[in-house]
Amino acid sequence: MDYDLPTLAEWFHGHYQPYIALGIRMGELAMQLLEAKRHELVIFTETGTRPTYSCMTDGLQLITGSTTGNGKLKVLEKGTLAATFLKDDRQLMIKAKDFKFDLDYIAKAEPEELFSWTWK
Ligand SMILES: [Zn+2]
Repeated sequence: MDYDLPTLAEWFHGHYQPYIALGIRMGELAMQLLEAKRHELVIFTETGTRPTYSCMTDGLQLITGSTTGNGKLKVLEKGTLAATFLKDDRQLMIKAKDFKFDLDYIAKAEPEELFSWTWK
């Protein structure tokens, strides 16, 4: 990729801040745990459509390639920093923990520091 993720995030979303960074990290984790490539996941994100929580959803779309436009991402109006990821017959729910609202920390933290997850 010719651009780094913060630059792409700013280009796509308008700014790079902790919630979109959190979405990128969450999407990376889901792809890793489900052994998914871009565009393979079906995602139900629970952020709702209002910033700032919804910024997390753009991070998910950016990194996973699953978007509202290609029909692979649906936004649920729950107002929580959580999402469910589906691939084949596997289903994974990832939830953000209380996290330090700092870009550098979010970029470098271990997944366990940022998220808890359960298989369904
Ligand atoms: Zn935002």
